[in-house]
Amino acid sequence: DQSVCAPLPVLGRDVTVPLVTGGEVTYAALDYAASAPALQRVWDDVAAYAPYYGSVHRGAGYLSQLSTDLFENARRTVEEFLDCREGDQLVFTRSTTDSLNLLAAALPADCQVFVFETEHHASLLPWRDARVTYLNAPRTPGEAVTTLERALADRDPYGPALVCVTGASNVTGELWPVQELAAAAHAHGARIVLDAAQLAPHHPLSVRELDVDWVAFSGHKLYAPFGSGVLAGRADWLQEAEPYLAGGGASKAVARRVDGGVDVEWHTTAARHEAGSPNVIGAYSIASACKALTEAGFDSLVAREQELISRVQSGLAEVPEVKVLSLFGDDAPRVGVLSFVVDGWNSSHFAAALSAEYGIGVRDGLFCAHPLVRTLLGSDPQEQGECGAPEGAPGEKSLNAIRVSFGAGTPDEHVERFVTAVR
Ligand code: PMP
Repeated sequence: DQSVCAPLPVLGRDVTVPLVTGGEVTYAALDYAASAPALQRVWDDVAAYAPYYGSVHRGAGYLSQLSTDLFENARRTVEEFLDCREGDQLVFTRSTTDSLNLLAAALPADCQVFVFETEHHASLLPWRDARVTYLNAPRTPGEAVTTLERALADRDPYGPALVCVTGASNVTGELWPVQELAAAAHAHGARIVLDAAQLAPHHPLSVRELDVDWVAFSGHKLYAPFGSGVLAGRADWLQEAEPYLAGGGASKAVARRVDGGVDVEWHTTAARHEAGSPNVIGAYSIASACKALTEAGFDSLVAREQELISRVQSGLAEVPEVKVLSLFGDDAPRVGVLSFVVDGWNSSHFAAALSAEYGIGVRDGLFCAHPLVRTLLGSDPQEQGECGAPEGAPGEKSLNAIRVSFGAGTPDEHVERFVTAVR
């Protein structure tokens, strides 16, 4: 099929790991949802820039100016990648978690927040100082919209409100009806932030078309390493809020007052929330990844990923002991992320065996989405405590799951090896 591209070159393709059964094998990184391998192209771009590294916004020298230009150009590249609107602001952060905590710190007084219990903890937890309504897990995308509409209809219509929702689940990979949820939020005078940590690496993303007010994602899941993330969207709440971090870069002018105190004038640009020396390599690598994905073409990347998903699904379907976890049904559209349990197996042991016997790296546990995974496993979503490791006796309920995830750099062989290993 012409529309399906080859895997994009990524770092670590030739890394070999030892097997307990003897010998070694190339490592099959099937944990993209946690951190994706960096694109070779990103690494090459960073290596080419490295000799010219300098301080951003803090130097008169040539290399300092060059780094400042690269940092600001990176901002524009990522704004284009996200199809931001006129007047939107893009703040470079450390991660999705950081971006959502920044937004939580910038909420207007008395803001009500609406969030599904199915969210990743990074979207579920930062709102603790606001009035939060946790919405029950929906079992269809349509039910997600009606659940939100019902909750919003009951809210104080004059106060500010924010809805926080994921674009693609880090547990099931399922796509959420973001455009419909945004329309519902706006119809009730609320705003919406999209957690795109799992969507952005796998799907074209337009802030304008989805009509979301903010979007957050992490570089290390988008094939760029170096501890950088993004929060992009409406400028007003961000600029009316106190700076997320106080310090140099966020402040425009600082002066001692006659009474001995200090007066500060804060920036009203993205710099307001970027105090401290910016992570220029982080921003530059995200921009490089955005360019590489755009040039490869999302249509062919998505087509390739869908083939891999189908192969994983058909392979798992051949094993009667395997149960794939899903909120919206097995046929629901999803990105390259899928979690499952195996009857008779402890999920942690199963994941350890995939690593030790086949050189396959997956993840086991509750994936920082404890209420969702407990709901999917049929255990009590209100239960507390650590990710439990069940004995795995046949017929016994699992307390955690196994997650396989892949993306633009995954060769067919990794997926075939995974299917064979599970079988
Ligand atoms: N949201 C989702 C949906 C995620 O999958 C993750 C990472 N697993 C996060 C937020 C948090 O991302 P980070 O750890 O990069 O802050």
